[in-house]
Amino acid sequence: MERLYFDSAATTAMGERPLEVYREVAQKYIGNPSSLHKEGRLAANRLAEERSLSARLLGVDEGQLFYTSGATESNSIILTSLLWKREAGRVLMSALEHSSVSSFKPLLERHGFEVVTIKTPKGYLDYNSLEGELTPKTQLVCISLVSNLLGTLQDLPRVVSLVRRLSPQAHIHCDAAQAIGKIPFDLNQLGVDSASFSGHKFRGPRGVGLLYLKSGTLQVASAGGGQEGGIRGGTEALPSIAALNVALEESLSNLEESLVRGRELHSLFVKELKELPLFELLSPSAGEFTPFIITISLKGFPGEVFSRILYDRGFCLSSGSACSSNSPKVNKLLFQNASFTPSQAEGSLRISFDRDTTQADIMALLTALKEESEPLKLKLRK
Ligand code: PMP
Repeated sequence: MERLYFDSAATTAMGERPLEVYREVAQKYIGNPSSLHKEGRLAANRLAEERSLSARLLGVDEGQLFYTSGATESNSIILTSLLWKREAGRVLMSALEHSSVSSFKPLLERHGFEVVTIKTPKGYLDYNSLEGELTPKTQLVCISLVSNLLGTLQDLPRVVSLVRRLSPQAHIHCDAAQAIGKIPFDLNQLGVDSASFSGHKFRGPRGVGLLYLKSGTLQVASAGGGQEGGIRGGTEALPSIAALNVALEESLSNLEESLVRGRELHSLFVKELKELPLFELLSPSAGEFTPFIITISLKGFPGEVFSRILYDRGFCLSSGSACSSNSPKVNKLLFQNASFTPSQAEGSLRISFDRDTTQADIMALLTALKEESEPLKLKLRK
């Protein structure tokens, strides 16, 4: 059976060119970039070229970029660096942070940090709450740019100006894993101190990502073998890094065009959804958001079960965020944090797509939603 893939926010299939380049680089560069022989030097030179390319694509200096295994590790490097602080202070994070950020709460609290979660009604940061919680003791503020759950976009320059005014010592970290290829942004304009990226969200390989550090330095929990300027130890994954760059270049060069199409598909979906009375749109249709993530809720029926029904009809999608779908509790909490009711959380389905999704794919999904929900309508009435 042909599958239609609507789970791009969870991961994307690697593009053709990134795959080819992965293979070429893996075969050509057999050395470890830290080795002193010729093969090692060739790999080190290629790595340096790749870093310049990533820097050019992201509009930053190459000394500000560090390759990691993905956004989880990039986030972890920032959060664990706090353990070096002489005095534990305050950490602020949005209530919609990915678990790779929010799961640090217990560890940080155990080390004496006060971790404050800032409300995110309907997926948007409550800037008044943020302002009220910022104190000179705040050491870290973590706000993701695009929510993996709802596609909502936060106003990072506004966050940065509040933090600089009220907590001038604080480091501002932005998880931008869901932003690349889904919205245009400029790291310099965001003004954050660090940001995380993940290759597999934009058709690069899984297991490779980036950490941007504005100052290019950080006291990290583990330097390993000292690679990546001591920010992230471990032998550099050169083939993956080269493939990530190809995917990054492709997704940035196609962004304007794919956004136009993405908005058209989003509008079509939202318009047609109005004809399906059992479904409710949870993600926004106005304001700042990416069109590539649409979250809906099925009234009175578990989204998880409905996503399996859809799977049997050939559609891949997640109920809530893929990372928390193994943990319905986390999923529920995330929706609750965005001011949705437990039953809205229960019925949630996340439809996420990318630049290759067509109008016919969207229409096929809508047809399946309609046909599979019709019998439920009768059952729910009983
Ligand atoms: N942050 C966000 C916002 C994400 O959506 C994800 C992936 N689900 C991650 C972090 C983790 O990324 P990775 O898989 O590269 O570790």
